Formats: sequence, structure tokens, C-alpha cells
Amino acid sequence: MSSALGIYQDDVFKMACEQFRVIADYLEIDENHRERLMLPKRAIAVTLPVHMDDGSTKTFQGYRVQHHLTLGPTKGGTRFAPDLSMGETAALAMWMSWKCALNGLPYGGAKGGIACDPTKLSRSELEAVSRRYMQEMIPFVGPHTDIMGPDMGTNEQVMAWFMDTYSVYQGYAVSEIVTGKPVSIGGTEGRRESTGRGVVYLVERAMDLLKMDPTECTAIIQGFGNVGSVAALSLALKTGIKVVGISDATTAVYNPKGIDVKAAEQHVLKKGHLRAFDQGDRIDPNEMLVQKCDVLAPCAVDRVITEKNAAKLQCRILAEGANGPTTPEADKILDQRWTEVFVIPDILCNAGGVIVSYFEWVQGLQAFSWSETEVTDKLFRILEHSFSQVIRRAKAHKISHRMSAMATGVERVMKAKRTRGLFP
Ligand code: GLU
Repeated sequence: MSSALGIYQDDVFKMACEQFRVIADYLEIDENHRERLMLPKRAIAVTLPVHMDDGSTKTFQGYRVQHHLTLGPTKGGTRFAPDLSMGETAALAMWMSWKCALNGLPYGGAKGGIACDPTKLSRSELEAVSRRYMQEMIPFVGPHTDIMGPDMGTNEQVMAWFMDTYSVYQGYAVSEIVTGKPVSIGGTEGRRESTGRGVVYLVERAMDLLKMDPTECTAIIQGFGNVGSVAALSLALKTGIKVVGISDATTAVYNPKGIDVKAAEQHVLKKGHLRAFDQGDRIDPNEMLVQKCDVLAPCAVDRVITEKNAAKLQCRILAEGANGPTTPEADKILDQRWTEVFVIPDILCNAGGVIVSYFEWVQGLQAFSWSETEVTDKLFRILEHSFSQVIRRAKAHKISHRMSAMATGVERVMKAKRTRGLFP
């Protein structure tokens, strides 16, 4: 274990391991099998030299972690973020494994990315870095080995460059190599909106259970990227919830009278960020999280609900659109507050993205396409099943929703490994 921790040394990886330990204790997994389940099967680091616009050559570091190959190919997003490390990538890959297993997808988890700030790259630099990354990954990925998708800092265009680079090397169009592509080159209808839509579907289910009337409720959403913006729009326009707080990396806006989310979206489309959006008061982003609201949806980075603010949360529902937004220390506090705060854990709450990625992959393999209604119906059916399972197990075993969700995911992988056996 100590040597593996050396490779993946990182606080987020430690957090994922700690979460796993809690689940492994609950499931009474034998010590002999814990590392086999927890540690990534493969971790690839690549160095990416790229010509910059000013004539210089810059070297970027890229990663891909394939967590387990027991249930099918690995699947997961590609993150472009300045501080990305192998350890964080490994933690995110581990969470993808439990997420795919919980939702019954025939995948192991993966995650990858490049340590870079995409907002500081020109379009041609972004293209060069994306293509170089995929080119270096060709020996390790494939439609039946490891399928990339989008994540923080990447978008449909980056997926298109990945697909093109891979296809050029194969000599024919391989649309199934990535998901989250533009619809014009084999992407699926409804993928871009899928994570945010999933978050809102589950918030509505939680409100049903708690007998809350959405039209009398308020929501605060942290993050205004692909997940947060769709969730905010759909909460406001579809359910009638009043959105009172939104934020992105540049600012946080709070308005107890309600924010016009459509106007915020237009602002971001024009300027690229929320800064200077003037419908409400500026608020300290950390303060925004502890304001009174019915739904708090962290849809940005990991570890924002910590032991420092968990006791102060004033929401009724915590909808985790981000990966790993709540630390294990915060979880202990939320466990005590289970009658006050209804947690929809990340591997359930944000699973809409990878579920529709799975639909995109299936459509690609069959060279067939489904309508947006078909995609969304199928998405909600899977989420409904996972939601009921998580709630049922939590009630029956008197455990938290996170414990219930993670235990279901870990157990599926464990059973599959046991059934397949150990070779040789
Ligand atoms: N990045 C998303 C996630 O964390 C989706 C990954 C994918 O579509 O492969 O679940």
C-alpha cells in the first residue's frame, strides 16, 4: 500500500481511500481483497510538448487512470485543470467505478486530463494540446478498452479533436472512442444537458419524498459550467424553484428575491463568466453555501463541504452535482444531521452524464441514433431505479445515503471480481 500511495500521493486520493475504508468496514470486506478493489489497475502519465502561438515550446503533463477492467471497458471524463495530479485523477477514477456500478453500467471507472488552464490557451493551443494528449493515449485507449468523455475544462469541441485524432490514426471514423461529442459527428442528443437534468430529476424525487412544494422553495447553485448552469436553468424554468444564489470561479451572486437564470446564462454566453453579472449582491462564495435555502447544489469542484461548514448548512436537500464535494469529516457531521439535511450523494446525483455517455457509446457501436426524448426517458428510468435502491438500503440498514450508494457500487464490483476469479 505504501508504494501505491507514493504514486497517487494527493489529498483527494486520500479522501477517496478513506471513503472506501468506511464502506469496506461496513461491507466487512476481507483485508486481502481491499487493495485489489481500491487501487487503480493502470495509471498512465504522458509528457506533451506543444508549439505555442509565440513560437515557444511548452511541455504539459497528462494523465489517465483506469481503475478496474472487471465489468467492461473503463469510462470517464477528461479534465483540463491547472493543479491536476495523478493522485486526484486516481480518486476521480475510483469514484467513476462506484458510480458506473451503482447505475448498472457495464464499465469500470476511469479519469484523465491535462494539468493546464484552458482559459489561458488560445484556440489553436487548446487544439494542439488536446490532439497531442489523445495521440499519446492511443496505445492505451479504444472503444472496448477505455472511452473518454468530457469533464471540467473540456467540451464538445475537445471531444471532437480527440475523436478526429484517434480516427486519423486508425484510418476510419471511430466515433465510439469518445462521448460528449457534437451531435454532427456521432454525439447523442441530450448529452450536454444530461448531468444537470439528472440533478434536477433527483431533486424533484427528493422533494416528492419530503413533501416539499418546489414553487415555495429556493435553491443555491455553486458552479455555472455545464452542470451548474443546466441545473439552475431547469430548476428555475421546469420546477418553479426560486434560484437565489449562483456562482462560478469569478464571482458569487446572491439575491433573496430570485435571480433571472436565463439572463445569467446569456451573460455567460457573451462574456464567458459570471463576473459583472448585476442581478443581486456579491457574496463571499463560501458564505453563499451556508445561506438559508431548500436546495444547495455544489456543482463545481471537490471538497467544498468540509468540517468547517457542514454544521452551518441551512439547506434541506444537498444535491451533489460535483464529484467529491463533501469530505469524510463533513460526512460525519451530516450523518448526525440526517433528519435536517437530505443528501443526494455525488455518484447518484451527477450520474446523468455518464449514463447518457453510455447511451452515446451504445448508439455509436450500433451506428444508430435515438431521439432526445428516448434518451431522456431512458436516463430517468435508470436514475429512478438507482434512487429507489439507495433510499431503500439506507432505510433498511439505517445508514447514510452516501454509504448506501457507495456500498451498492463497491459490492457490485466486488461480486464481479469474485465471480471472475483471480488469474492465474
Ligand atoms: N465527467 C463526467 C463524470 O464525472 C462524465 C464522464 C463521461 O461521460 O464519461 O461523471
